[in-house]
Amino acid sequence: MCVRTIINTLTDRRKKIFDKIMLRVVINHNTGCWEWQGPTSGKGRGGGYGRMSLDGQTVAVHIVMFTIFFGYIPGKKQIDHKCNNRICCNPDHLQMVTHKQNQKLRDERRKS
Ligand SMILES: [Zn+2]
Repeated sequence: MCVRTIINTLTDRRKKIFDKIMLRVVINHNTGCWEWQGPTSGKGRGGGYGRMSLDGQTVAVHIVMFTIFFGYIPGKKQIDHKCNNRICCNPDHLQMVTHKQNQKLRDERRKS
């Protein structure tokens, strides 16, 4: 298989996943957040993140969305919500940070 064919396949797959996500998203026109309406990781610590099924596995919606737009996420990096809205999967509201940066941002937001 030539590289070109692989690239086309990937793009097609990304588009399909994107469409699948957007079927369950409501755009909040006040904040610009793309709010996931499907299942979440529940309440409490680590809760409130959108979850979806992809190839038989449960994955975080915002991480899938980030990958569709910006590609691979190195293992030690985390995806932060600039909007502080865990249910949001607008790629413009997501940024890749280190664990340390993420903690710092969380603390700052808690204070404000
Ligand atoms: Zn947002």
